[in-house]
Amino acid sequence: MFEVVIGLEVHTQLNTKTKIFCSCSTSFGDEANTHVCPTCLALPGALPVLNKEAVKKAISFGTAINAKINKKSVFNRKNYFYPDLPKAYQISQFEIPIVEGGELIIDVNGTKKRIGVTRAHLEEDAGKNIHEENESLVDLNRAGTPLLEIVSEPDLRSSDEAVAYLKKLHSILRFLNISDANMQEGSFRCDANVSIRPKGDTKLYTRVEIKNLNSFKFIQKAIDYEVERQSAAWEDGKYDEEVYQETRLFDTTNLVTRSMRGKEDSAEYRYFPDPDLLPVEVPEEMYNEAIKIPELAEQKVARYVSELGVKESDALNLTQSVEMARYFEELIAAGIQPKLATTWLIVELLGRLNNGVTIETSPVSSAKMINLLKRIEDGTISGKAAKEVLDYLMEHDADVDSVIEKLGLKQVSDDSAIIAIIDQILAANADKVEEYKNGKDKMFGFFVGQVMKEGKGAFNPGKVNELLKAKIG
Ligand code: ADP
Ligand code: MG
Ligand code: ZN
Repeated sequence: MFEVVIGLEVHTQLNTKTKIFCSCSTSFGDEANTHVCPTCLALPGALPVLNKEAVKKAISFGTAINAKINKKSVFNRKNYFYPDLPKAYQISQFEIPIVEGGELIIDVNGTKKRIGVTRAHLEEDAGKNIHEENESLVDLNRAGTPLLEIVSEPDLRSSDEAVAYLKKLHSILRFLNISDANMQEGSFRCDANVSIRPKGDTKLYTRVEIKNLNSFKFIQKAIDYEVERQSAAWEDGKYDEEVYQETRLFDTTNLVTRSMRGKEDSAEYRYFPDPDLLPVEVPEEMYNEAIKIPELAEQKVARYVSELGVKESDALNLTQSVEMARYFEELIAAGIQPKLATTWLIVELLGRLNNGVTIETSPVSSAKMINLLKRIEDGTISGKAAKEVLDYLMEHDADVDSVIEKLGLKQVSDDSAIIAIIDQILAANADKVEEYKNGKDKMFGFFVGQVMKEGKGAFNPGKVNELLKAKIG
């Protein structure tokens, strides 16, 4: 049977404020051609000036994947002619990329696997061509946005592994805060190189490159389709005829890949060092700053488990996104018990977020959640009442204490009110009190239940327990 061989090329936009070779804004979604200047319009005589932030972000990435950082790297011109690239070449890196030879450890169904990262290099993004019925338009706002192209070794053996790799990569970029990595907005784009070979064979067979993959679901489906197509060709004795090196596009309507163009060889790009840009030499101080990277998801999981006593499965959940981890850590920093914070975040808050509302757009901010959980911890309201408060806060912009007041959810912690009810319950159940005194311990729970019931949920259960113990020992 066949073995699947996949190598991925990811283009991720670095989240610098300005473009890589000029000071135009990188902001997304604005009116066409409003973020352009002589440099990114490729007017004659305009010269590129390298954005240091982009270099720093690339170095941080290399550090996170245990790669070699080339303190001296070179920018090349990669020639090709499309209107969205008005210079008729793209500034990119070729022989000496800034990042070389790293790794990502992926986890597929509990098994860890090392995937090699060949290189990561800096380059500029192109603009966008927009084709309408009778005309084509060009928007150059995106032209010159810094890109990091991250190329994997052909180490992936299934579409599941490919998706696991991409999710891991995505997480690293987000936790490093070097890219928005937003697939819908195109700031995280993936091309998949796919080939098959007979099991046991170690040589690489002909690869097909699939472009236009903008969701994890489509990446999976495109790879699966392509593997199917190549295997069928092999089995029909038509492999040589039907599988050749080419670029294919994924048709998201019919879920098939279609031939787009024959594959360029790197020779066709006629790379040569860009005479307008000196080789990049990273100063020691800048390098030392860039390699100081924040804690990544994996390290957070380990720390939540060992320092906070969070279950591993919960810790994985809490680090699904950088926003989620931040929210959680804000609760912990405010002194909320980890177990309470975990449950209220994963079960209560996430359970109430839907219709595309995420933790970032949650109507209940971490500050509000802290106030709410403090009111559970200090006994002002019960956990059950807190859920009502949360329901209310999901719909209304209000502060926690006034909602507690408004909904009348305050627990009675006032001893005398509780003692009065305890006396009443004990008097009405003299026979059961006798049984309890004769050793029937479980009667205690019965009394608690009766008192709580009489208190109509407004009594603080801890307080009831304490006062009842004081009464009957
Ligand atoms: P290019 O830039 O021309 O696409 P690269 O040499 O940078 O070429 O390789 C692109 C990707 O293709 C890499 O991720 C690599 O791992 C992958 N790749 C190379 N050969 C194969 C193959 N036979 N099957 C699957 N993937 C492959
Ligand atoms: Mg390629
Ligand atoms: Zn510009």
